[in-house]
Amino acid sequence: MQTTTSTHDLHTHSTASDGTLSPAGLVERAHALGVSVLALTDHDSLGGLEAAAASACTLGVDLVPGIELSVTWEKRLLHVVGLKIDPTHGPLIEGIARLAGIREARAEKMGAHLDKRGIPGAYAGARALAGGGMLTRTHFARYLAGQGHAPDVGAVFKHYLVRGKPGYVKTDWAALDEAVGWIRGAGGTAVLAHPLRYRMTRAWMDRTLAAFIEAGGTSIEVVYGSNTPQDNHAAATYARRFGLSGSVGSDFHSPDVPWTALGRLPALPGDITPVWQTW
Ligand code: AMP
Ligand code: MN
Ligand code: MN
Ligand code: MN
Repeated sequence: MQTTTSTHDLHTHSTASDGTLSPAGLVERAHALGVSVLALTDHDSLGGLEAAAASACTLGVDLVPGIELSVTWEKRLLHVVGLKIDPTHGPLIEGIARLAGIREARAEKMGAHLDKRGIPGAYAGARALAGGGMLTRTHFARYLAGQGHAPDVGAVFKHYLVRGKPGYVKTDWAALDEAVGWIRGAGGTAVLAHPLRYRMTRAWMDRTLAAFIEAGGTSIEVVYGSNTPQDNHAAATYARRFGLSGSVGSDFHSPDVPWTALGRLPALPGDITPVWQTW
């Protein structure tokens, strides 16, 4: 892995989903930290792209329109980042309207389950924290942490919001071929996000990547904010073995979370084709 810092960051969040900075605030911070090519990739939402583009235009940042889609494949959760998408593409807009409905129904169930366990008002609290943005588990976590149910957001996830815990609700997101199809239909590139976070065996990752490529995916996130150097190396190996281009993304959500590496990502290994060179 080269030690130079990447000027590209192709995975970030704003208040349009579970980030804490406004789209314009995110672009300003990225610019100040030396990012010259930035993708805004909110969860199942295009809502921040217009404001981000306006800010990027003023500052001279190259803003790549993006999204991070929630996918269920073989009962597993995958995240597929779409880059350089046309945000006016009808099937993409209809697809994320469906995901928004799924998120709303899930959030109501999460609230009801937590209510039964003696934690009232979680749905309303999370809804208020999300503002007009896409409602996520992160908003529940922030609300519960704020109410003193756990010391921090990470502890709320661990005790309440992951599989087997009271606030967890099994959810069927978009199918893999649907999500990749929406991205490609919108003229975009589909990137398998944070492959090392799925904690899959190599055999499962091979199956996942075969299905992703079959669906039309062409890129994998090689350099990722919370990756160790070994994780970056492992992801690069998947890119080489499957002939995928490589993406670079911090998954920045908030300046309050120290591990989010906005503006501090290492460059891709020299033999990996950067996803932006395929555009
Ligand atoms: P959702 O898509 O609504 O299920 O929310 C997923 C989001 O929750 C991810 O994008 C992360 O931002 C956040 N998240 C997931 N797991 C954790 C965790 N263990 N600690 C903190 N945040 C998490
Ligand atoms: Mn998130
Ligand atoms: Mn993700
Ligand atoms: Mn993300």
